[in-house]
Amino acid sequence: MLAHDILIVGGGLAGLAAALQADPSLSVALISRVHPLRSHSVAAQGGINAALGNHPEGRDDSWEKHAYDTIKGSDFLADQDAAELLCREAIPMIYELEKLGVPFSRFPGGVIAQRPFGGAGFPRTCYAADRTGLVIMHTLYEQAWRRRIKIYSEWLVVKLLADHGICQGVVVYDLTTGQIFSVKAKAVIFATGGYGRVYLRTTNAYINHGSGIGIAYKAGVPIKDMEFVQFHPTSLANKNILITEGARGEGGYLINRHGRRFMIDYAPQAMELAPRDIVARAIQTEIDRGNGFEGEYVLLDLRHLGPEKIKKRLPSVREICLHFAGLDPIEKPIPIQPAQHYSMGGIAVNIKGETTLPGFYAAGECACVSVHGANRLGGNSLLETIVFGKIAGHEASKYVKGSHLRESTSQFFEGEVKKVEEKIDEWRRRSHGEKVHQLLNRLKVVMSEKVGIFRQEKDLVQALEEIRSLREAYEKKGYLAGHCRRFSQEMVNMLEFDYMLDLCEVITLGALARRETRGSHYRLDYPERNDQEWLKHTLVTYQDGRPVLSYEPVKITRYSPVTRTY
Ligand SMILES: Cc1cc2nc3c(=O)[nH]c(=O)nc-3n(C[C@H](O)[C@H](O)[C@H](O)COP(=O)(O)OP(=O)(O)OC[C@H]3O[C@@H](n4cnc5c(N)ncnc54)[C@H](O)[C@@H]3O)c2cc1C
Repeated sequence: MLAHDILIVGGGLAGLAAALQADPSLSVALISRVHPLRSHSVAAQGGINAALGNHPEGRDDSWEKHAYDTIKGSDFLADQDAAELLCREAIPMIYELEKLGVPFSRFPGGVIAQRPFGGAGFPRTCYAADRTGLVIMHTLYEQAWRRRIKIYSEWLVVKLLADHGICQGVVVYDLTTGQIFSVKAKAVIFATGGYGRVYLRTTNAYINHGSGIGIAYKAGVPIKDMEFVQFHPTSLANKNILITEGARGEGGYLINRHGRRFMIDYAPQAMELAPRDIVARAIQTEIDRGNGFEGEYVLLDLRHLGPEKIKKRLPSVREICLHFAGLDPIEKPIPIQPAQHYSMGGIAVNIKGETTLPGFYAAGECACVSVHGANRLGGNSLLETIVFGKIAGHEASKYVKGSHLRESTSQFFEGEVKKVEEKIDEWRRRSHGEKVHQLLNRLKVVMSEKVGIFRQEKDLVQALEEIRSLREAYEKKGYLAGHCRRFSQEMVNMLEFDYMLDLCEVITLGALARRETRGSHYRLDYPERNDQEWLKHTLVTYQDGRPVLSYEPVKITRYSPVTRTY
């Protein structure tokens, strides 16, 4: 049986950062459902935050100010020790990336360029035009090659294995051969990214099903703050391709049907650069009030920036508009609407990336440390993937080297593979029933209509009922029409849908229980933040076949919660 000391699941930035930090004397391997360079991290446009103070208006910036902005942006739900660690580590980390060869954009004097971003007191977002994720990914991937990290592409992890109270490895579906087998590992790090594809409108890649979070949950690992789902204010209308916040950072305006810069009514000081939760709600409110266009979108106007700035700083935005909307932002404003974008919640980890299961770690978007609390600031996610990816790689190495682990027998591994095979046989034996892609489409509609930007009790209750009836349909009638197991998208969906249902149930349960408004979680029936009762994290654990909710206090170091105004 295939065995490694450390197995990293996910080839995005968090996974690559973990792989590069793992002890080179250990056998380290990385599994990814797609080639690593197809991970969603490559789509990151706008940039990565660090208080370098390179911008003329950013000279007084410091990591402490970055931490405060992050905590305020999180609506005070972030754990402050984690946010401080993130922002302190950001500065050396950017220089490390620079040394590895990341081609950051530069100011005329040669220092790394920085631009303003939402919710930030100073311009502190470092960038490479609007292709920041792409260039960092290529740089880290090159390094992974240089280090000869073993990479298994087009393998889908379908189960996390625990035995003797510790993590033992994973079960894999190899898309290229159609085979199911287990891989043994002393430590496993999940860096599996977000779950945007449980919503109809999302900026996320087609592969972002979120199964990693569901797999951890089914293995009994608590997941945290899942009700906090970020909706990005500006995705290209009806295509939902992201138009980076960098476009507003460079000075873009948001305009309604009356030609008004409506952000003046919602965030009179920060205007277009208020945090995302506020801007997304403002846009949706304008659309709902009939101030949008065709009842669906408002406009992002870049024309006043001039052709030179648009071509130099926002070349991908221009390309996206030309190719997907048939318009040139130099000449015409861009139709935009909010879309699901990011998951603040995830697998509960401490600042070492450890979960409650010894030997199992998580980092990046699939994890919840929590540095983003109830709302993430733009540019902080790329940062989190690398800072906490590295920490997870380091801690997992220490764990593997330091302990005498009790390995499971080969019968245990065979038994776990058999369970997955039996499920597949059951789906295949049915000759008719429910097709998984139709079930998935219904799930997306429920989540978008009832667990979206604005929420209220009656919708959330209905959503829960519908999610549970979809589960019943999946379990009792789900079937596989195709018989070829190689590269079977149907089988991928079938295997992952179980976990997608779990995630949606947990998001909805958390949202229903949390009777307050905080960050991205906006309750029409409880529109105020309520620190007395709700300044706490939601944890959901899978116990005896059902989700169990519990709560945990927020770690506060030095910043007392205040009302959030911008
Ligand atoms: C369009 C867009 C633009 C963004 N722009 C920015 C930005 O400018 N700045 C910023 O800070 N943040 C940005 N973000 C957010 C940020 O890019 C992501 O949060 C971050 O890149 C996630 O990295 P990750 O390594 O955690 O996951 P990902 O990059 O999503 O990688 C996940 C990996 O896990 C693998 N995987 C998943 N499930 C399985 C499984 N079951 N089995 C095997 N492999 C699996 C995938 O193959 C993939 O390799 C943006 C996000 C989007 C969608």
